[in-house]
Amino acid sequence: MAASIDLEALRHRLKLLRDTGETTLLENRDGVECPVCDEPFDEVLETRERTRTLSADEDIHLCLLRERDKVLLFTHARVGGLP
Ligand SMILES: [Zn+2]
Repeated sequence: MAASIDLEALRHRLKLLRDTGETTLLENRDGVECPVCDEPFDEVLETRERTRTLSADEDIHLCLLRERDKVLLFTHARVGGLP
């Protein structure tokens, strides 16, 4: 089975930072694991937009999960020399 995550079911462990209708940004407050790399993520961005510009810096790594009708982007701060 492909990686998947149910943000609705996890909503009580995540803090809503931004919601534009098309795009939701949630902060991980409870060590929820990324379905892509299994490490806890810092924030998850869920979007139904077709295109999305992101500003990332070298201290962050990103995991992308494409689902049927949306894309989820997980951010991880590079702590302790994670590869
Ligand atoms: Zn990840």
